[in-house]
Amino acid sequence: MTKTVKHWINGALADGDSARAAELFDPATGEVSGHVALASAADVDAAVAAASAAFPAWRDTSISRRAQVLFRFRELLAGHLDEIAAAISAEHGKVHSDALGEVARGLEVVEFACGIPHLLKGGFSEGVSTRVDSYSIRQPLGVVAGITPFNFPAMVPMWMFPVAIACGNTFVLKPSERDPSASLLIARLWQQAGLPDGVFNVVQGDKVSVDRLLEHPDVRAVSFVGSTPIASYVYATGTAHGKRVQALGGAKNHMLVLPDADLDLVADSAVSAGFGSAGERCMAISVVLAVDPIGDELVAKIVERVAKLTVGPGDDPRSEMGPLVTAAHRDKVASYLDLGVEEGAKLVVDGRRSTLVSGEQADQAAGFWLGPTVLDHVPVGSRVHTEEIFGPVLSIVRVRSYEEGLEVINGGAYGNGTAVFTNDGGAARRFQNEVEVGMVGINVPIPVPMAFYSFGGWKSSLFGDTHVHGTEGVHFYTRGKVVTSRWLDPSHGGVNLGFPTNG
Ligand code: NAD
Repeated sequence: MTKTVKHWINGALADGDSARAAELFDPATGEVSGHVALASAADVDAAVAAASAAFPAWRDTSISRRAQVLFRFRELLAGHLDEIAAAISAEHGKVHSDALGEVARGLEVVEFACGIPHLLKGGFSEGVSTRVDSYSIRQPLGVVAGITPFNFPAMVPMWMFPVAIACGNTFVLKPSERDPSASLLIARLWQQAGLPDGVFNVVQGDKVSVDRLLEHPDVRAVSFVGSTPIASYVYATGTAHGKRVQALGGAKNHMLVLPDADLDLVADSAVSAGFGSAGERCMAISVVLAVDPIGDELVAKIVERVAKLTVGPGDDPRSEMGPLVTAAHRDKVASYLDLGVEEGAKLVVDGRRSTLVSGEQADQAAGFWLGPTVLDHVPVGSRVHTEEIFGPVLSIVRVRSYEEGLEVINGGAYGNGTAVFTNDGGAARRFQNEVEVGMVGINVPIPVPMAFYSFGGWKSSLFGDTHVHGTEGVHFYTRGKVVTSRWLDPSHGGVNLGFPTNG
């Protein structure tokens, strides 16, 4: 019997009243492994009502009690890493070690949120005027929502809800309908940790549930992560309905390789960052900018490493790279191979011909397979160069100088991540200053910030003002208030119509 993934509302699994459902697949075999409920607007309303009802008591729970729940949740998560990773691999396709890595990065945000008593400390100024004190406090917003993509079904939601809940909000998560199971495992762990029912809810669904969350009057803020067109839509719609919105979008991340770099280390990094998780990472490197004259030597080293990669099912310990998430996505990614050649690139490694651990050729096997692909001499401004492919396709663009490479990066629509590889500290420092991208790696190919910094890109990679987690996350999920106080005594008597000053 195949599974049916339901909603989690007010501390219990819920069928919802919608008859709609979507198929879930095992990407390694292409077989249907189950179904996920697709919420109606009424199902969303039920989740928001549960979160609204839970808010007053959770907001009034002392910060140290809230932190205690987070500490217990952290311990439970750490004890269930394998189970959550296995659920992710089964629906997403990524290899088990990679799935474990994403849960571990999410866990770090929980650990950050355990410090909420410190993070919510305000300022206090004694005697701002005669016998008048002033202090600032930050208060939760109420019901907040998270809408998340398929590629990190545990980590991306955990960029959001640990901080939101620690701040005293209640949360409604709308995970990707492609890999929804991890969200329910996490919901159960929250309950075991002692989180009151209704503080964390999950609605499974598609555009119907997203739209209802965006217009629901009781939802105060929405965090979104996904593709740029949907991020732009979510930002416009949510803000038009008076909500605070942070919407993180797509990416096209370039790695600039200067001639003085160690090309073996560069090739290791380019292959790891280009093909990890089959390139389905918003921080994946998709374009290597090789500064003359190193192009040929670097491509040879990359090809040598790609030839050794093992591609197979996520639950096979030999696999380093798994399948893509759906057949439609695999076909879309694969379409860029012929397009690249039409646009003038050279197909140096063709992932359709990759041999899987089963011995089958990628394009002959059942399942959503495409092996690692390398396109060299990709023309600047071509579709392969500019569009987000979100798969195991690494493009090499040849540039003549640092300046030309920087111009290519800054000329792009996206500004999520980037990296420079060099042994020249001055060049690296110049790059960090001049590049128009939110997250920069210096000899680090995937510079995902730690939980106590904030994650987010520039330009079409982020709509809104605040990045996720870290102190910007705390600010996003709280409102500031400044109190000016005076304890009256007879010396304060007398009417004065002047504007208050610091007398
Ligand atoms: P997606 O935009 O298709 O879906 C994201 C979420 O939006 C899902 O929950 C989905 O159900 C919902 N959605 C889809 N279509 C919608 C519509 N028409 N109206 C309203 N809601 C809709 O993204 P995806 O394919 O799940 O994820 C991959 C994308 O996410 C890539 O573009 C990747 O770069 C991006 N991403 C960005 C970051 C980041 O931090 N910037 C992180 C991870 C992924």
